Amino acid sequence: MIVFDLACIEGHRFEGWFGSSGDFEDQRARGLLCCPSCGASDVTKAPMAPAVPAKGNQRQEVLPPEQRPMANTPMPPEMRKALAALAKAQADALKDSTWVGDKFAEETRKMHYGERDEAPIHGQASLAEAKALIEEGVPVAPLPFPVAPPDKLN
Ligand SMILES: [Zn+2]
Repeated sequence: MIVFDLACIEGHRFEGWFGSSGDFEDQRARGLLCCPSCGASDVTKAPMAPAVPAKGNQRQEVLPPEQRPMANTPMPPEMRKALAALAKAQADALKDSTWVGDKFAEETRKMHYGERDEAPIHGQASLAEAKALIEEGVPVAPLPFPVAPPDKLN
């Protein structure tokens, strides 16, 4: 196994584990990589971080500016259960929906303007695309949980 520091087009950094460096190229070429923060599939190898940071917070400056609410209190079991139930509800809701990947904005827009048949779809959109769709009155909503593209599950 080999670990790479990866970065998405939005600048989120995360680690990816691969069987070899060829696997990385292969998965990237097939669009199978996606950012755990925003789902972007435009993922590249981040510049190598030093193996041993000279000063503790070296990585700090490359973290995205966005903030996430965090706590160091263990989450109660009810909360974990509720989240699991919600994740399942989302999966059920998407059961008959087709994954369209990054074609989501394009396809929902076509449906909205009657250029294709209505059908349940889900995929990914950038923040700007999502905003534009909502402003155009296209009925879309963000999903609360990340969705793994179907071909990633194989
Ligand atoms: Zn990202």
